[in-house]
Amino acid sequence: MIGHATSQFRRTVRLIGLPTDVNSSFLRGPAKGPAAIRAALASDHTSGSAEIGDAFGEDVRWNDVGDLPLGEDESDAQRIEAAVAQAIASVEMPFSLGGDHSITFPVMRAVARAYGPVDILHFDAHPDLYDCYQDNPSSHASPFARIMEAGLAKRLVQVGIRTLNAHQRQQAQRFGVEVVLMSDFTPEGVPVLDGPLYVSFDLDGLDPSVAPAVSHCEPGGLTVREVLRVLRLQKASLIGADLVEYNPTRDVHGVTGAVAAKLIREIGALAARNA
Ligand code: MN
Ligand code: MN
Repeated sequence: MIGHATSQFRRTVRLIGLPTDVNSSFLRGPAKGPAAIRAALASDHTSGSAEIGDAFGEDVRWNDVGDLPLGEDESDAQRIEAAVAQAIASVEMPFSLGGDHSITFPVMRAVARAYGPVDILHFDAHPDLYDCYQDNPSSHASPFARIMEAGLAKRLVQVGIRTLNAHQRQQAQRFGVEVVLMSDFTPEGVPVLDGPLYVSFDLDGLDPSVAPAVSHCEPGGLTVREVLRVLRLQKASLIGADLVEYNPTRDVHGVTGAVAAKLIREIGALAARNA
């Protein structure tokens, strides 16, 4: 993506498109996310630079391997897991482009197989801890229940949460999830994790004024600036990331796409800075 000598790259990030929304509970649309995110990443609408680190993002090499052919059947999860394992085997950081949040469970299976249980920093309006949602244990409302049951995280820190009902509070207690409620949020109040660190970013963690193109609109969310502050304070080595729940059918002037592209670049820049 950036045409300088390879010697300046501190980290290679592999973009893996996961165009699936079969496990969404309300609206479809996130399956169109990867293509729309690629268009936003390539667009001159934004500068393409990053603030984190001191290299404007120029120390990251991006390797876009395209979209997985996801057929909306049971083998999708295996395909996702294999693609992430392949990135790790190639010493590239897997960055999965959703798709809805259900993709994070198969992604984490591959990550934990390589690294053991890791620290997860999860941005979201929702805890996604439902034991089962609409009779679907693979729902995008449940991936972190599956991840915690399988022992794939040593710590799970959730940021931006503003929909914690009684069931999910109970689930959070059961699994020892550290929930930073939006009502109590300060960037400095978010635990700095030891790592290895995985970042899972659901765009609805942001305020809808910043990111309107999501399937579940929850006012009172994070600003981009607050997210960057939280990320910048993290010192651990990044071993993977995802950005999910972009629903481009609902975007306004491409604003959410531009935000998604910026966050991807900043998380890549953080991976390079912390390498
Ligand atoms: Mn989510
Ligand atoms: Mn969400």
